[in-house]
Amino acid sequence: MQVTNPATGAVIAELREDDAASVEAKFDAAADAQPAWAALPLADRVEVMRKFRATITYRLDDLAAIMTAETGKPIALSRNELNGLLPRLDFFLDNVVETLAPEVVLLDDANGMEEVITQEPLGVIANISAWNYPYFVGSNVFVPGLLAGNAVIYKPSELASLTGQAIAEMLWGAGVPEAVFPLVIGGGDVGAALLEQRLNGVFFTGSYATGKRIAEAMAGTMARVQLELGGKDPVYVAEDVDVAIAAASLADGAFYNNGQSCCSVERIYVHRDIYDEFVDHFVRTVEGFTMGDPTDDATYLGPLTRPAQLDVLEAQIENAVECGAVVRTGGARITDRPGAWFAPTVLTDVTHEMDVMYDESFGPLIGIQWVADDDEALALMNETPFGLTAGVFTTDEPRATELLRRVNAGTAYWNCCDRVSPRLPWSGRGHSGLGSTLSRAGILTFTQPKAWHLRKL
Ligand code: NAD
Repeated sequence: MQVTNPATGAVIAELREDDAASVEAKFDAAADAQPAWAALPLADRVEVMRKFRATITYRLDDLAAIMTAETGKPIALSRNELNGLLPRLDFFLDNVVETLAPEVVLLDDANGMEEVITQEPLGVIANISAWNYPYFVGSNVFVPGLLAGNAVIYKPSELASLTGQAIAEMLWGAGVPEAVFPLVIGGGDVGAALLEQRLNGVFFTGSYATGKRIAEAMAGTMARVQLELGGKDPVYVAEDVDVAIAAASLADGAFYNNGQSCCSVERIYVHRDIYDEFVDHFVRTVEGFTMGDPTDDATYLGPLTRPAQLDVLEAQIENAVECGAVVRTGGARITDRPGAWFAPTVLTDVTHEMDVMYDESFGPLIGIQWVADDDEALALMNETPFGLTAGVFTTDEPRATELLRRVNAGTAYWNCCDRVSPRLPWSGRGHSGLGSTLSRAGILTFTQPKAWHLRKL
């Protein structure tokens, strides 16, 4: 399998791709090795994960360079992701012992009865991952999954395979047996072959279309299926905000990582009293973003990681313009350089008749629509099948909390956006997925409870 640098189009590595036979052999080895891994004291697995954390800090610059070369993510953002990984690891390391500890829920001396809950690993699970934040989305699964005593078959995205390989090598180096964390390299067909194994769980991060295919493939196995899928994340800007601050914050929320984040701001609704002023500030901010060589520290916008997304963005813009939208900046791919580049694009005069306000864009494209009041904003925010995050910008906290209470999304933002915390559950509703990672719920999701009824005779 060839690995291509999306900033230049150059082939930078060749990897041996897995096939159905190698996937099966890796599954069998994982199933054999998992019980011994689970039988280790939890403190030993915690120690291994501490070594993994230490390797990340030691190799940070080199790991950032690998991620930038294969995904086109600007180097400053690659370093941000690796630095952001450390508090996630710390959260898991600081909370796993207490979260997985046996819980005595009844101690009835008079009748000699005790009730206890213990948490057991699921067994062998698959971690099928996306490319846009390979460290974040992978670690949300393999770190608590391994700590809980599972074997984790890790399939990084075909667009982040070198990073996947680096992650596997660091975990093996830290003391996770190779059979307990097998690396599977390849695309969708290799992922599909993985689903043919007798898995005890599938933890997937990727698009709704693939998530639906995975849910269909796994139906009937009764294995745990967790899906972290796409979003069409809305934000409403009320008329009482500091317009310049809100516009700058939301431009970053929409265009950080070229909009290739599941929680990127994808739709903005602005109260009509401040609509023109907001759009002016927003467009000025976007036109000030530095696009260029992703290895340059000053670069904010690099190429798109997946070239096929260029067609999706152009189709959404064409559809919107046909229905009356106005292109305020950008609007097309950039063709005077090799690789996959798209001009950051702001559309105004958009409506929900247009695909851009309904389907995930997953790129540097945003539609800004005016609304008459809070009720209209809320109705529009809840109008897509997705439900990952939603935000409200206003100085009025009760107004924000009332709106956010009624919004159908797993994450609610007041005066902030595009933010993930290891302490809070990360979960999507509707087409944004099933189940949660992060927080204590994101540890327990890798275990199955056992209920003990103990009678002393
Ligand atoms: P994708 O669905 O194309 O691929 C994801 C993974 O699934 C890859 O490893 C791919 O090889 C594998 N795959 C593809 N077909 C498969 C099949 N039939 N069986 C098994 N595996 C298969 O998604 P992507 O382009 O890598 O990622 C972008 C998407 O991920 C966006 O929609 C984004 O919003 C979403 N995402 C969601 C979250 C979240 O936390 N909710 C986080 C990051 C990305």
